[in-house]
Amino acid sequence: MEKDDKSIHKFDFNLICEYFLGLERQGPGSAEATIKALSFIDNLSKESNIADIGCGTGGQTMIIAKNIEGKIRGIDLFPAFIEQFNLNAAKLNLKERVKGLLGDMKNLPFREEELDLIWSEGAIYNIGFNRGINEWRRFLKKGGYIAISEASWFTEKRPEEIEKFWLEAYPEIDTISSKVYQMQKAGYIPVATFILPENCWIDNFYVPQVNRQDEFLSKYKGDKTVEDFIANERFEAQLYYKYKEYYGYVFYIGKKI
Ligand code: SAH
Repeated sequence: MEKDDKSIHKFDFNLICEYFLGLERQGPGSAEATIKALSFIDNLSKESNIADIGCGTGGQTMIIAKNIEGKIRGIDLFPAFIEQFNLNAAKLNLKERVKGLLGDMKNLPFREEELDLIWSEGAIYNIGFNRGINEWRRFLKKGGYIAISEASWFTEKRPEEIEKFWLEAYPEIDTISSKVYQMQKAGYIPVATFILPENCWIDNFYVPQVNRQDEFLSKYKGDKTVEDFIANERFEAQLYYKYKEYYGYVFYIGKKI
């Protein structure tokens, strides 16, 4: 198989977990971007119920918790991430109102209209943006908010190499206007969108991976799966540097009508 034919989904999940467990973030983002997205949300109080779906080890969850009142439940499919999430919450004295729970975004454990806010950074692609915003809507109260970051095209046309890579990795990548249209169709007021700045990818996502990759390659010397996985991560990063004017992550904030 050509290395550009591989997406992260084809590698062993335990391997991916171990790799990302050693990193603060499992996707592009920053404290500033999380706080900016929060600034569009005005309905929160001590009584609020918030869900962070595909929370990983909780980099963004802890930022949210430090900036608002209310209870946050982080949901992730992978036990090692949830374990680390709960350790992080304890370390920051947030255990009373921040809890990590094992769960599947395709089958969430919430009641109808229970939540004031649904958060999800760099994770909704696991269910697909359109399915996620439609299925999760019923858990929100009327007037509740959804805040999602999602891979998006910035331009109408893209060079073939990057178009091919993304259509293989995540065919639902689309333009910002298409995603906003989907939000409106799903029953949300599109409150705001903004593009995550490049530092969210470079400084907070790809640069911290450089050391991790060296560590991994020496720990698993000669392991072909690991070598392929690291080659794939490096290839993805190179594509970002080459084509970052054409795509990136975008925050979408909507309010349930
Ligand atoms: N929000 C975090 C993690 C993003 S990576 C951050 O921005 O750093 C995507 C996360 O989605 C991973 O933690 C992965 O374990 C989780 N995930 C993948 N499939 C899932 C599913 N079906 N249900 C819940 N979480 C899932």
